[in-house]
Amino acid sequence: MVSRVIPVQAFDLVVFGGTGDLAKRKILPSLFRRFVAGQMPRDAFVIGVARSELDTKSYQDLVMSSLKEFEPELVASAELEIFIKQIKYVQIDAQGDFGWSDLADKVRKDAIQAFYFSVSPSLFGQLAEKLYKYSIASQSSRIVLEKPFGRDLSSARALNAVLKEHFSEDQIYRIDHYLGKETVQNLMAVRFGNMLFEPLWNSQYIDHIQVTVAESVGVEGRGSYYDQAGAMRDMIQNHLMQLLCLIAMEPPAKFSPDAVRDEKLKVIRALDPVNSSDIVRGQYSNSGSDKSYFDAVGNPSSKTESFIALKVQISNWRWAGTPFYLRTGKKLKARCSEIAVVFKETPHSIFGPDAGSHRNALVIRLQPDEGMTMDLTIKEPGPGGMRLIDVPLDMTFAEALGPEVDAIPDAYERLIMDVIRGNQTLFMRGDEVEAAWSWTDPVIDQWVSKGSKPSKYDPGSSGPEDSLMLMHKDGRKWREIS
Ligand code: NAD
Repeated sequence: MVSRVIPVQAFDLVVFGGTGDLAKRKILPSLFRRFVAGQMPRDAFVIGVARSELDTKSYQDLVMSSLKEFEPELVASAELEIFIKQIKYVQIDAQGDFGWSDLADKVRKDAIQAFYFSVSPSLFGQLAEKLYKYSIASQSSRIVLEKPFGRDLSSARALNAVLKEHFSEDQIYRIDHYLGKETVQNLMAVRFGNMLFEPLWNSQYIDHIQVTVAESVGVEGRGSYYDQAGAMRDMIQNHLMQLLCLIAMEPPAKFSPDAVRDEKLKVIRALDPVNSSDIVRGQYSNSGSDKSYFDAVGNPSSKTESFIALKVQISNWRWAGTPFYLRTGKKLKARCSEIAVVFKETPHSIFGPDAGSHRNALVIRLQPDEGMTMDLTIKEPGPGGMRLIDVPLDMTFAEALGPEVDAIPDAYERLIMDVIRGNQTLFMRGDEVEAAWSWTDPVIDQWVSKGSKPSKYDPGSSGPEDSLMLMHKDGRKWREIS
């Protein structure tokens, strides 16, 4: 099964921060893949913009070497030379006036215009202002914003306000790349495209839901940013919150941007405040040659968490009484992101007490090996008594869809093409982001006001012991991180 390619219209995509890590690792390789797939047309241009003193030729060389590094299998393709010719460069100072007239000359008025702000959020306001001042953007232009979108409610509100001086909400694309993942969209397809699950998708049949986003790496080169943010701001407020919304939301009337985002917003607004006894924070210690969190961020008195686990309740008819357990952290035993929907036990076992306790679980795996499994209880084969075992029904996409599954675009490819098509369904709306911060701020305030420190955990573990207790005290347990 091959993913269907629908070419987009001619566009000019201006990448502010065009020499940065994100542009080199994700944005430019994604565009190249869409070009090779035939989706990015020959009359589309990418204009890299940054402070570095480069001309178009030297920027094209920089893009070429990034593609060699990040898309080694594709660079041999004859398309590379053509793609590179569709790339231009403008040197700009976002905080001053240098380079803006040059950019105004290069951006076409008769093509779709998208401006990707792949720079520090402190520059967002100035970029929006200059695009307006130099008459570069029009009312049909789109702006694309990278996370972090604020660090609390007041900064997110200020950011929304400054952008809205020059752009309307339907021009603003706030990226959460988790929403561009194939499996995340499949969550909606599975829920709303099948009759099987939706009647059971509530607190009457679902015991609990656990969401794990585990990373095996530490803070890497992002130490100074990360130490100001921590796992709650960096992961829960955006990525895990978005996953929670898609699991918990009511069926939208149609798959359209505002219908989907209205339902997600209702979930965020129905979240209960979190009790301090339902929060576990951790910080990794050192092990062998691996640096501790303190050493990695260069701050021996840091109280920032590199791990967090929370028990979250949604106060509405569908979910009252079914907890959502969320956990995310760095330097854990494996890189693994998954959602497990754990169903209740049958109300009565006809097989007697020896049959043990069994539960169905639908596991949606985001990475690695995107796919789904459904744990079903069956009879253990063989003669003798009626012994029950749980077996996973495996729906790994790579197997089900065949080798062409590789042709399915990754999150950035899909999201950038959605920007060009003008489809905001998989992007966060301003009120959603603000509602997420309204829930997050008091959670953070609890530990900031007490000055509490995160517990230590060993690198390569499943996080602090207390996080296991968070589930144990409710008679439940986390799935293995593997
Ligand atoms: P980076 O530091 O590698 O690159 C920053 C870019 O901004 C450079 O191209 C630089 O020239 C440009 N820039 C800085 N100041 C400028 C100015 N005054 N005028 C014009 N250009 C200027 O950063 P990055 O890692 O590419 O991240 C970019 C943004 O994306 C950040 O907000 C970051 O938080 C966010 N983000 C990055 C990643 C990632 O994996 N790198 C992931 C998610 C979000």
